[in-house]
Amino acid sequence: MEQVRVRFAPSPTGYLHVGGLRTALFNYLFAKHHKGQCVLRIEDTDQTRLVPEAQENLIHSLSWAGVTFDEGPHKGGEYGPYVQSQRLELYQKHAAQLVEQGDAYPCFCSVARLEEMREKQRQRKQPPRYDGLCRRLSKEEAQAKIQEGLPYVIRMKIIHSQGNYTFNDLIRGDISFQPTQIDDQVILKTDGFPTYHLANVIDDHYMKITHVIRGEEWLSSVPKHIQLYRYFKWEEPQFAHLSLLLNTDRSKLSKRQADVAVEDYMKKGVLPEALVNFIALLGWHTDTMQELFTIDELREVFSLDRIGKSGAVFNTEKLEWMNHKYIQKKTVDELYDLVSADLSQEVKENTEEIQKKMIAAVQSSLSTLSELNEKLIPFVRANEEASPEIREQLKSEDSQAVLRTMIAKLETIDEFTSETIGQAGKDIQKETGYKGKQLWLPLRLALTNSMQGPELPVIADIFGKEKCIAFLQRHIEV
Ligand code: GLU
Repeated sequence: MEQVRVRFAPSPTGYLHVGGLRTALFNYLFAKHHKGQCVLRIEDTDQTRLVPEAQENLIHSLSWAGVTFDEGPHKGGEYGPYVQSQRLELYQKHAAQLVEQGDAYPCFCSVARLEEMREKQRQRKQPPRYDGLCRRLSKEEAQAKIQEGLPYVIRMKIIHSQGNYTFNDLIRGDISFQPTQIDDQVILKTDGFPTYHLANVIDDHYMKITHVIRGEEWLSSVPKHIQLYRYFKWEEPQFAHLSLLLNTDRSKLSKRQADVAVEDYMKKGVLPEALVNFIALLGWHTDTMQELFTIDELREVFSLDRIGKSGAVFNTEKLEWMNHKYIQKKTVDELYDLVSADLSQEVKENTEEIQKKMIAAVQSSLSTLSELNEKLIPFVRANEEASPEIREQLKSEDSQAVLRTMIAKLETIDEFTSETIGQAGKDIQKETGYKGKQLWLPLRLALTNSMQGPELPVIADIFGKEKCIAFLQRHIEV
């Protein structure tokens, strides 16, 4: 196979959508699997939709996820510039070439005329199509209008009497479009900017792109692109169109049902390796049961022929499950480095060693890193006064007996560890007959001011002997 070159070509219109991350990831994995190159190209030809800083955000989200590029606006490269608004001359030159060849023509139709034309077509129940008015102008007539200073766009010709546009999509197989399904496309706008079609084809050609891997929504653009490749006498790249992402009810993935911005998952404390693993399995699979893959493993095994044609369900429960698995793989030091800046003030008041112990105590219960502060509440809430309900509950005769016996036991322990504390609990059970909730709940309430949390001996160990005794002591009625 020739040197594989692919591109991810987002428009900087906002955040990176999870569907965009999948497209970028599949391009990256395909390129790396074939020891090829992956290019980042910013398609900013629709100046009305630009969002400031979107480009930086896209690059940041992609690099957070570990999707890297060999060339791009942030890296440079042999085929730059990689931002379309910096390549206008190239597009204008090629549009002029098509006009010269007779394959495109200037169109002077006003927005109002086009609107009226479409309205009439709608009334006649015809699809909205350009009616070819300016295509019928002679070269001289068109030239005269240009001289007059009338604004115009350039449209490419679509010859309706030719055979179908047929191509082999690497995911969907043979696909065919009738030329009559398409009208004469605008390729250059009045402001001198190209439309998506022209810029996309020119850049894919000059950037030597061999495979175009993108979302299904671009499938209907392929015949227009094929026509441009023919006019320019350039070889077409191969195409692969990825299926849509779906909500669990199989409707198109929507903000209402799930977060769709990569940034949202970042903020929630989803690990990049979990998100990448999850996204890789949206529409792609291996022939094994393996579900957890590092990005390097994915590069090894990825292939386009294992991508399915049907929509891929974006199941956030599965993502949480995966994230949980990846959190478990982290050492406490790694976790601490990831979360330390976001820990609550109360947690941060402890030494680093204690903070790490607290994190280790709740690690197994975490699905996302953003749950951490809440899970650590049992370690910090006891610094506050207990609620009247808790105080009341701890006044009961049984609770008092448990607290007193425990204090006495703890005082006898020399080596204060979760094992020795656990053993103390068991001893009390034997001696007093209190067991289960009767035994643990008063202790938990007195130590943590919470109903739930990590295992009590673990908490007690982190607090240390003195603090434990003091916390229990403050509930003893005299
Ligand atoms: N700029 C298009 C987008 O925003 C690129 C489509 C393509 O990859 O050809 O997705």
